[in-house]
Amino acid sequence: MKRNNRNPAGKKVRIGIVAALLSVLTMLLFHLPFFRHAAGQVEPGFNGKMILLSLGVILLAGNYLFYYLLLYIGRIVGKLLISFLFIGNAIGLYFINTYDIMIDDSMMGNVFNTNYAEATSYWSFSALLYILLTGAIPIVLIWLAKTDYGKIKRFLKSIGLSLLTVLVAVFANMPNWMWIDKNSTVLGSLILPWSYVVNTFRYYSAEKEKNREEILLPDATILNDDKDVLVLVIGESARRDHFSLYGYERDTNPLLSKVPNLTVFKANSSATYTTAGVKAMLDYTETDMLYEILPNYLYRNGVDVIWRSSNWGQPPLHIRKFFEEPELQVMYPDAQSGFDGLLTEGLKEAVTESGNNKVLLILHTSTSHGPSYNKKYPPEFEVFSPVCNTVEMSKAPIDELINAYDNTIVYTDWLLDRIIGDLKELDGWESCMMFVSDHGESLGENNLYMHGVPMSIAPKEQYEIPFIVWTSDSTQQLKPADMLSQYNVFHSVLHFLGIGSPVYDERMNIFR
Ligand SMILES: [Zn+2]
Repeated sequence: MKRNNRNPAGKKVRIGIVAALLSVLTMLLFHLPFFRHAAGQVEPGFNGKMILLSLGVILLAGNYLFYYLLLYIGRIVGKLLISFLFIGNAIGLYFINTYDIMIDDSMMGNVFNTNYAEATSYWSFSALLYILLTGAIPIVLIWLAKTDYGKIKRFLKSIGLSLLTVLVAVFANMPNWMWIDKNSTVLGSLILPWSYVVNTFRYYSAEKEKNREEILLPDATILNDDKDVLVLVIGESARRDHFSLYGYERDTNPLLSKVPNLTVFKANSSATYTTAGVKAMLDYTETDMLYEILPNYLYRNGVDVIWRSSNWGQPPLHIRKFFEEPELQVMYPDAQSGFDGLLTEGLKEAVTESGNNKVLLILHTSTSHGPSYNKKYPPEFEVFSPVCNTVEMSKAPIDELINAYDNTIVYTDWLLDRIIGDLKELDGWESCMMFVSDHGESLGENNLYMHGVPMSIAPKEQYEIPFIVWTSDSTQQLKPADMLSQYNVFHSVLHFLGIGSPVYDERMNIFR
């Protein structure tokens, strides 16, 4: 390393060298997934190589510029920020390599909405190694090196030169801007630290937008005195092709396959992540705006609405009866804890004691949420074995991963059958059980795991969802439909419960 001997304190490293080292380290340690993906997307030949080369130059010079500015202006604060970024990069890299995720704004939303128990299920020993090797060692180096920050003239010269390099590379690449634009979402989600820094801002500005006052829908009217109850079960990561009801060769639906009056529809989710999938199920129409969602709307208009959840990520609820697992555990001390069976405890009583003729029960489950599928069902539901025990899905034997996932579907089968069994025993009530998943799940196809790939490029495994309906009245007919969406839920619930509304859309109702 070059020493600045003019400095009487001696043995200092020039800021330019520190910035250059950090830039090279960032490239070597954290930009591999980015280049791997880019290399797969460019066409072979000279132009493709030019794109990759100029991306490399832009990133090297851009990161140099960034680190230089941070160190020069921030000094100790700059070093502190860079330290945080390297730790963040190490964690990001672990997730990209282990789960093949892309860090876009919706993924950052998942990160900030994940609760502690869920978050810890992703960690493993190799996460620690990532942090130590790719995060901590560079940090030790920058703190050990005493930095010679130099004069303003040198600062301006370095900044000017690196900025010029970035601009020249960008403009030399002008014919390829279309290519960059087309691939920007995925590429951007792989550039550490920009992926999580920029997408954290994007997520929070979108959140701020969402948390504004919800737009009320025009008042609804209860059209009759019939006793109607509908149980909407929101599935988590349940993919359609792993239900034997939809033709899966394994018997994952031993109970539901024997239930009369059960209708299965094909449906596509409108997103590949929870918050958007759940919102679509509760919205009256496809919208980014925050309209009054189904439970809030029905509660405000006199329906008894109960929401039980082992999950999260729903839009803000304005109802009285909202229960999460800890409260449910207190209400039902004898129930087995830690599994979604808890959500289905005492359903009959909840309906009969409601004192209302119209009841909407929403169970927001988490049954098939990865990565630890094998922890989401009680031991007696381990029908398919062996199951993998690692949270690093890409390292798990694929058949063991699928075994564990399929067991969550067997457990879902039991849960839905139990709900139907309870509803059947309700005298004088017409009842309906509706099961719709928030999105699908990748189980290693194309080396993808879990979900969250942007909808425009998502594989079908992540959006092909089950839409299962059971009604107590065998004369209740359902309209034939090739394909449903999550937006069918709102209107079908209104129709079933006998609620009139100016926003009701008969075409979106699944019942005759
Ligand atoms: Zn989900």
